[in-house]
Amino acid sequence: MTPASLERLRSAVRDVPDFPQVGILFKDITPVLANGELLKLAIDGMEEAIAGQRVDKVVGIDARGFIFGAMLAARLGIGFVPARKKGKLPWRTRGVDYALEYGTNSIEMHEDAINPGENVVLADDLLATGGTAGAVLDLMRQSGANIVASLFFIELGFLGGREKIASFGPIHSLLTY
Ligand code: AMP
Repeated sequence: MTPASLERLRSAVRDVPDFPQVGILFKDITPVLANGELLKLAIDGMEEAIAGQRVDKVVGIDARGFIFGAMLAARLGIGFVPARKKGKLPWRTRGVDYALEYGTNSIEMHEDAINPGENVVLADDLLATGGTAGAVLDLMRQSGANIVASLFFIELGFLGGREKIASFGPIHSLLTY
């Protein structure tokens, strides 16, 4: 990924102040998704981060992680596994509760989605505090996955998410703020 390509991606991300609540600067990736060239660049960047490694599956996090995760999986010709908010998956699940700034949340994966020993990559749109990614990485570990890497389109470095999930393996972000 050239610096010029990264700059093109960075300038396409739209900052929306006070969404979904006052004080949050929301990173809107829809302008990247709406542009075919940029969309391809984003997946090129994620693919590059794990180049040369054997990967069996990509896990994507509800909901924007489905977009990046599924595209990456299709690019690599491997399977995609959704990690979903509680109550959305129809089959037998394994779940984990995790703390939010206010209250808690739960995330689930089908218990047969990953076979023990499979090489798995996590994909999401954005790493903030790392609470969500940490919960999913925990589920992946419980499933017996060999965690190859966690890939994010955006990382909000000042929130310390990287430290929170560092013990699970390598972390790659295309754009850091
Ligand atoms: P966290 O668990 O704090 O790392 O939050 C991760 C999830 O929240 C990501 O999957 C994002 O979709 C969403 N998120 C958190 N902060 C932002 C933000 N400033 N802009 C856009 N999405 C965000």
